Amino acid sequence: MTAALGGCGTPKPILDGDKCLAHVRKLVEIGPRPSNSPGAEKARAYIAAQLEAAGHKSTEDRFAAQTVRGIVPMVNVRCEIDGESPKVVALVTHYDTKRFADFVFVGANDGGSGVGVLLEIAHYFGKGRPKPPVTLRLLFVDGEETQWSVQWNDQDSLHGSRAEVERLQREKKLASLAAVLVLDMVGDKDLDILRVSDATPALSSWLEEAAKEVGSPEKFFQRIEAITDDHQPFLAAQVPEVANLIDFRYGPSGPTGGKYWHTAEDTLDKLSAESLRLVGDVVIRVLPKIAERMR
Ligand SMILES: [Zn+2]
Repeated sequence: MTAALGGCGTPKPILDGDKCLAHVRKLVEIGPRPSNSPGAEKARAYIAAQLEAAGHKSTEDRFAAQTVRGIVPMVNVRCEIDGESPKVVALVTHYDTKRFADFVFVGANDGGSGVGVLLEIAHYFGKGRPKPPVTLRLLFVDGEETQWSVQWNDQDSLHGSRAEVERLQREKKLASLAAVLVLDMVGDKDLDILRVSDATPALSSWLEEAAKEVGSPEKFFQRIEAITDDHQPFLAAQVPEVANLIDFRYGPSGPTGGKYWHTAEDTLDKLSAESLRLVGDVVIRVLPKIAERMR
């Protein structure tokens, strides 16, 4: 067990990066996937089909989001996987892509990469495989992006994660959620996952340990930055442990976010199977730490 988890020598990969990348390719082939679009519906169908192929049930949570374009119907896809412990850990990624009027935006990294990793995690913990150490909630959220071409609007963004917090409050289930880990823009060939400044300290340190175990600590947490993203509604709701794995230097030097961020250049060729695999392996390796160390 220790050897398999990389006690010494080169750590053994856990996930198959090529399979992660193949999921992202399918999403990119669909084309743009903004909220309330045929592309978003096709993306949900792909996600649900993959979850079913792994032996899991999934649920669609529908909600109406107030946006700069008026009320937009949105849908989160949620999948629960029973674990050794009833402690619930939500792995969250957005599947919507930002809507642009003047170019085709396929969001390989931003809207695609996190989905690719979570779907392979679903297969890794698929039917007939060992249970995860904690109960997993895979949450594919809609409406992370601001709904029109303004770069960002604090009132019109993070719709899916806010709707999930509201659902948990409404159903009085918020207290059962132990930890939230968001994945966003995790596929860049030149991987540089930052530490978001508001992540909780314990989960951050467990993630750093996991990155060392994976054998590529230089690609993780070399910098700390304040990032507005889907982890924040959960932080505001006082979920005990919250963190975000995001690489916000996407491409060679450029403006905030990197040269490829929110451009027509966010395409599959900018990603690597290895980066997706590394992030997925860090996620899998942090789960037993959450199971053992959280009260
Ligand atoms: Zn984005």
